[in-house]
Amino acid sequence: MNSIREAEAIFFDLDDTLYDHLMPFHMALKHCNLNLPAAKLEEVFKRVRYYSDVLWKVYTKGEISLDLLRIERLRYAFNEFGILLSKEQAKAIQERYVKEQQQIKAFPEILSFIQNLMKCKPIVGILTNGPADHQMNKIKILQIDQIIPKERIFISDSIGLAKPDKRVFQYIQKQMNIEPNKCCYIGDTWKNDIVPSIEAGWQCIWFNHRKRKPESHHIPHEIIMNYHDIFI
Ligand SMILES: [Mg+2]
Repeated sequence: MNSIREAEAIFFDLDDTLYDHLMPFHMALKHCNLNLPAAKLEEVFKRVRYYSDVLWKVYTKGEISLDLLRIERLRYAFNEFGILLSKEQAKAIQERYVKEQQQIKAFPEILSFIQNLMKCKPIVGILTNGPADHQMNKIKILQIDQIIPKERIFISDSIGLAKPDKRVFQYIQKQMNIEPNKCCYIGDTWKNDIVPSIEAGWQCIWFNHRKRKPESHHIPHEIIMNYHDIFI
């Protein structure tokens, strides 16, 4: 069965599904004369995000400031790869990273793909994890807010549930009043996108543009490397 052809509701993940999530980090490092090979860049970035989560718990207890969290996550991550960053270096990378995040661009084919999809599907939306303002800001920079109506944009912090909790998918079904097998999710991350959408009974398309390996027995309904691979 062609998952997207039979679905009536299509939801997209945001980060690294609608735009290149690594690009702002890559550009920030380049600006600070830290050039890493592509494979290492992804590994370091993953560890930055890992430390971001770890330090977030420390921050919510009031033990460190948000500024320090953002600096220390970089220092911890780079340290794992034998690169010792001074606080000043980490601060410079962080400042540039924030600037680069304001310049993100949707994958070239994605806006027209969504527009075509909306001509033949009653429901097209986004489901993303993260702070509501931050995620919405990115959606605006990508100009996707001009295509997808606000009531079809679901951000974990606003609804109080986050992927990989499959209840977030069930929440959307309820809101949209639609059966799970009529829903299709498109995302890049195995643990957060593929596993819970399949377990919620959705169709799912793995946007595997980073050529990762499956991490469990789950089987996505389709695997694509770019949006030209999808026939609506
Ligand atoms: Mg993602």
